[in-house]
Amino acid sequence: MEDEEGPECGKADFVLLDEVTMEHFMENLKLRFEKGRIYTYIGEVLVSVNPYQDLPLYGPVAIARYQGRELYERPPHLYAVANAAYRAMKRRARDTCIVISGESGAGKTEASKHIMQYIAAVTNPSQRAEVERVKDVLLKSTCVLEAFGNARTNRNHNSSRFGKYMDINFDFKGDPIGGHIHSYLLEKSRVLKQHVGERNFHAFYQVLRGCEAAELQELHLQRNPALYSFTRQGAGLADSESEERSHYRAVMEAMQVIGFSAEEMASVRRILAAILHLGNIEFVETEEGQLAVAEEVLADHVAELTATPREQVLRCLLARTVASGGREVIEKGHTAAEASYARDACAKALYQRLFQWVVNRINSVMAPRGRDARRDGKDTVIGVLDIYGFEVFPVNSFEQFCINYCNEKLQQLFIQLILKQEQEEYEREGIAWQSVDFFNNATIVDLVERPHRGILAVLDEACCSAGTITDRIFLQSLDTHHRHHPHYTSRQLCPTDKTMEFGRDFRIKHYAGDVTYSVLGFIDKNRDALFQDFKRLLYNSSDPALRAMWPEGQQDVTEVTKRPLTAGSLFKSSMVALVDNLASKEPFYVRCLKPNQDKAAARLDEAHCRHQVAYLGLLENVRVRRAGFASRQPYPRFLLRYKMTCEYTWPNHLLGSDREAVGALLEQHGLQGDVAFGRSKLFIRSPRTLVALEQSRARL
Ligand code: ATP
Ligand code: MG
Repeated sequence: MEDEEGPECGKADFVLLDEVTMEHFMENLKLRFEKGRIYTYIGEVLVSVNPYQDLPLYGPVAIARYQGRELYERPPHLYAVANAAYRAMKRRARDTCIVISGESGAGKTEASKHIMQYIAAVTNPSQRAEVERVKDVLLKSTCVLEAFGNARTNRNHNSSRFGKYMDINFDFKGDPIGGHIHSYLLEKSRVLKQHVGERNFHAFYQVLRGCEAAELQELHLQRNPALYSFTRQGAGLADSESEERSHYRAVMEAMQVIGFSAEEMASVRRILAAILHLGNIEFVETEEGQLAVAEEVLADHVAELTATPREQVLRCLLARTVASGGREVIEKGHTAAEASYARDACAKALYQRLFQWVVNRINSVMAPRGRDARRDGKDTVIGVLDIYGFEVFPVNSFEQFCINYCNEKLQQLFIQLILKQEQEEYEREGIAWQSVDFFNNATIVDLVERPHRGILAVLDEACCSAGTITDRIFLQSLDTHHRHHPHYTSRQLCPTDKTMEFGRDFRIKHYAGDVTYSVLGFIDKNRDALFQDFKRLLYNSSDPALRAMWPEGQQDVTEVTKRPLTAGSLFKSSMVALVDNLASKEPFYVRCLKPNQDKAAARLDEAHCRHQVAYLGLLENVRVRRAGFASRQPYPRFLLRYKMTCEYTWPNHLLGSDREAVGALLEQHGLQGDVAFGRSKLFIRSPRTLVALEQSRARL
């Protein structure tokens, strides 16, 4: 890797474009991509394009090049951003965060891994054992979370099906001494069903392919994923058996390093197996008209693997207990449809709790310990956010609705922070500035989350009504509330639009484009009901790990009167908390772009990229950056780069301050009219000034 980039590589910062138009932006992006320059700045924001091939950009040598450097000293890189966040945290004891965004397959998770690797490589020079342990756990946790939270999708063979925010805590020396992972909305419906061409979560295939034969026998499983209803669809898409086996081994090893006990790991395998067996359970009516499990041996397996009594497993599958006024409790038999619904709800919940338990276990191992964890009573933190990007499928449901709402929130934060940051810097440095118009998506966020009227509130209201409300009525209610909202429409409101279906679809004009949602299943997914019987059953398991996943199972059936919070309202409050948390930190942004839809190496499909550049607001970002000042540099750094272009400053200046020396240099070039002198930094208005300086440097 070269330290310097020649002009043939295009502009390393989009701020330096001759004109801010989509054409110029794309031209530069393309030129750089063709030269293997996948990273470009917009000021301090890093734009990254997934190369879909291994480029020689990473590893210890590259890390050493960026360590301790300023952002602009080297070609744009994730390491430079990681380093900037790290230095801001260390020097100024500021909490920082790195927000990585972009659509599925754009390279967010890979980026977050490079960032973690950078941080691990540059910290703990004295090799303190506890810090090494924390670093190991941080690095290994990714592998484990990917096994349980990622799946092959049509867009990405290793797609994260959950949102992840990871805090790394640092002590006063700047070494990591702990961490914490928040996970958001695991796509648990994937446990039951996958689109054509997609798979269930990796963990299922890994267990089937990776376990020793004897272990598999204990789990009552056979190797072939086609034998299980939950893994059948993706069975033909499995990686080769040997790959799957080596993934399995890597995950097991990572879990061991993290500190999962052998018994806990065995529990995890048993739960995965129980879910697979549960998926194969079907219901039949007996001659007496009673509902029964078709193959009781499957219920036996579930009972054995979850360490619960067989009769109770059967009872939970076939009936539910209800408190009918006072303390009276009755058992009500399921219909076949109810039983299938309950089975599926149980399988999803088992998996989700397993995932959350794995996250919690990792957190308990990474929790900062000891007194030196405190600095003035507070650690400093770097947060890394790798969360699902905007999603548009042929059919979009509740999950896409939540994910896209999340992206609206993050986009709103981006707008606020970028503007806020600029403004604050100008104020700090005593510089006057003018604001730029930005598309503000606040009205879309409001459409979703406004109390009483927003889509989530209307949905909650529908879920509270006793049983009779259908998805269709929910849609009518949305239409009534939002008929005049500029970002909302439906077939009812726009009868001529045949791309939506009557009584089924509504459409939101998101900042990233229009998305049509089908309301089918919204109420059900939001209610996210699981019969209490399963909770009690699993809480009473004699497997301590499983029991720990179901704390609410200890409630008595007559106590359970409070309505559990809905999935939507839980998601909303977790998003509000996330955004508040990010807003309290000094943000760094990585905007990932996906170059083409085919995962093809070194191919940039212009139309596809244009769309992403547009909706991520990258052009506006460049404009904001340039509206005030295209570039700003601390005086010493400016001198270091340009002092050779002026006799007063080369090799060293004899003027009173660096600020005066910079003034003399600019005067000699006749460029003093285009700059403002801040307290500690020089602000350069037009990129042309920077270009002129660069040229005079290159002429030497
Ligand atoms: P999702 O939202 O689906 O989780 P994502 O944005 O996290 O998507 P990644 O899983 O990070 O996407 O990347 C998808 C694939 O692209 C990776 O598995 C890898 O093959 C390739 N890729 C991403 N970044 C790079 C990179 N910097 N160098 C080489 N290949 C990369
Ligand atoms: Mg990912």
